[in-house]
Amino acid sequence: MRKATVAIVGRPNVGKSTIFNRLIGERVSIVEDTPGVTRDRIYAEVEWLTTRFNMIDTGGIEVSDEPLLTKIRHQAEIAIDEADVIIFLVNGKDGITAADEEVAKILYKSKKPTVLAVNKIDNFEMRDQIYEFYALGFGEPFPISGTHGLGLGDLLDEVITHFPKLEDVEEDDEVIYFSVIGRPNVGKSSLVNAIVNEERVIVSNIEGTTRDAVDTFIHKDNQDFVIIDTAGIRKRGKVYESTEKYSVLRALRAIDRSDVVLVVLDAETGIREQDKTIAGYAHDAGRAIVIVVNKWDMIDRTETSMQEFEDKIRNQFQFLDYAPIIFLSAKTKKRLQRLIPIIKLVSESHTKRIPTNVLNDVIMDALAMNPTPTVKGKRLKILYTTQVAVKPPTFVVFVNEPELMHFSFKRFLENRIRESFGFTGTPIHIVARKRS
Ligand code: GDP
Ligand code: GDP
Repeated sequence: MRKATVAIVGRPNVGKSTIFNRLIGERVSIVEDTPGVTRDRIYAEVEWLTTRFNMIDTGGIEVSDEPLLTKIRHQAEIAIDEADVIIFLVNGKDGITAADEEVAKILYKSKKPTVLAVNKIDNFEMRDQIYEFYALGFGEPFPISGTHGLGLGDLLDEVITHFPKLEDVEEDDEVIYFSVIGRPNVGKSSLVNAIVNEERVIVSNIEGTTRDAVDTFIHKDNQDFVIIDTAGIRKRGKVYESTEKYSVLRALRAIDRSDVVLVVLDAETGIREQDKTIAGYAHDAGRAIVIVVNKWDMIDRTETSMQEFEDKIRNQFQFLDYAPIIFLSAKTKKRLQRLIPIIKLVSESHTKRIPTNVLNDVIMDALAMNPTPTVKGKRLKILYTTQVAVKPPTFVVFVNEPELMHFSFKRFLENRIRESFGFTGTPIHIVARKRS
């Protein structure tokens, strides 16, 4: 289901990151365990009372070497493009500055719901300092203190009242939602256009329905598909769109609602660090993944060129060893028609359930060949295993001592499960639980 998105906007040093970090607390939707993946948090999930929403710290998106006013104008534009509600943050200690007025002008024109928060009001006596901010034209300013955690509840109460009605966009279990992610210029929008033209979109942005206006619908092989957020991909030409942080932000937003994620690489420029960052997010989110090597028409093909590129990918994306790779060209449409069947295949893996008795037969067979490890004289005992969830498939292994189940043994079980049941294209999670 689509969640509302809130962005924090304001000039440097007003406390955006402080507030962002305080609001996300420990509830970061990003699991930080993929080596080599940088995680500057600019996007995370927040839960307030019973409402979940996504939060963006626009301060984290730097458009390099721009004068201050241009920079904050870009940040305000990002917030307007990406968010449903904006928190406009100012510094109560400084009073209104020219930069605040610049931000106010842009936000005012956009007509996006905006809540004004005055930060660094660290104690009750300082509250009088908020009144001058009425002049910015956003109604009642909310006094808060990021460092002391004051006033945030009242602020969020107000923010939530401005959320669009999203309850009715309940997503359909029968539909496969997928997104196309990758760094700038790998060919995401060309690929989306190619798919859409090839597959003859049945319905698109149906008025008056509960569908999200930025999605595109495809019907093929008796299956409905939705490409998430195609509007965002196809929109072009803003200065910040080529920045790394922005492309990460876009990817995170798209991953959030997807069942299947197409991670697009560029055959011409090869693999870059940023490709790994973006793929790492999809993996961490537990989505089914297809690696798409686009622009294959640009490669001087020899008998081994495809194998060589595949080896490179396997070597650099070891955490994606389960993801199928497809080499294609959005330009010539070569092998494009194989894409939808692969998306369907990995989606089936992502939602597959293995009956407990069948699963245990496989695990017991595996244990007969490879006894469980012992740690300090104590042997790991596996009682039984059961699949508790899909999207991604998640298995709970009941054991005598969960600490005895090391990463390498989990990996062994994962490999046996994959050998027996497939699970192409989906991560699988294995959790050890104590049962004596
Ligand atoms: P950003 O540039 O807007 O993201 O601002 P930061 O979050 O990096 O904060 C800038 C500075 O203001 C840091 O030194 C923070 O410790 C400080 N700061 C943030 N919130 C508060 C607050 O509520 N009270 C006080 N006194 N200082 C704060
Ligand atoms: P995006 O930024 O990831 O959405 O990338 P675009 O779809 O805008 O493509 C970037 C550039 O790569 C454009 O000039 C496209 O024409 C070109 N391009 C995209 N796909 C292909 C392809 O399959 N082959 C070739 N040769 N060029 C492509």
